[in-house]
Amino acid sequence: MGRVVVASNNAHKVKEINEILSMEGCEFVSLQSCGNFPEPIENGESFIANARIKARAAHEETGLPAIADDSGLVVDALDGAPGIFSARYASLEESSAGTFAYESVDKANNARLLRELAHAGATNPEQRSARFVCTIIYIDEHGDEHTAMGVCEGVIGFGEQGTNGFGYDPLFFPDTYGYSRSMAELSSEEKNAISHRGAALRALKQQVERGSL
Ligand code: IMP
Repeated sequence: MGRVVVASNNAHKVKEINEILSMEGCEFVSLQSCGNFPEPIENGESFIANARIKARAAHEETGLPAIADDSGLVVDALDGAPGIFSARYASLEESSAGTFAYESVDKANNARLLRELAHAGATNPEQRSARFVCTIIYIDEHGDEHTAMGVCEGVIGFGEQGTNGFGYDPLFFPDTYGYSRSMAELSSEEKNAISHRGAALRALKQQVERGSL
């Protein structure tokens, strides 16, 4: 087993994929380290379609086996939003808040999420159920595609807690910890053990164990 390109420019995701899939004889390299490739347009209508767009592009550009994840947060009280638009939720908002008033895109996304839940009248924890979803596509050295999915159930809190992780982690309280700790208060080992990405990667590993991974 040689090099596998991780089709993401999100350093946090690359780190998590490395930690979870790490194994002897297999080196996961970032797309940037293989060259200067344009980011493909993620115009799929599902997590799986977007993961496929990223994995295919990276495989075709580098000629290497490629792995891509598409993930996001699905909130019941918001009819599944932000879903596939999780990464740019705040920038899609029509009101004036936008991304500008915040120190980062993540902060702006989290602020919008809290606003939308308040607007939806979701004032009790029972009304704030949500899940992180992750779809992984792995394209092996023969160009064959393997798919795996993972889910992590929880609730959305009322304010940010914790500084680890990224994205919506400070607002997401996984069921596993009885809502006492946000995802951003877990160590990376604790997060990987229960996360959507951890579950999807472990499922992928099992699926292709007798193959090339
Ligand atoms: P993608 O890079 O297009 O898959 O977008 C994923 C987006 O979903 C990220 O930018 C985050 O906002 C959110 N997300 C996905 N996985 C996580 C996670 O593990 N923690 C927090 N937010 C996540």
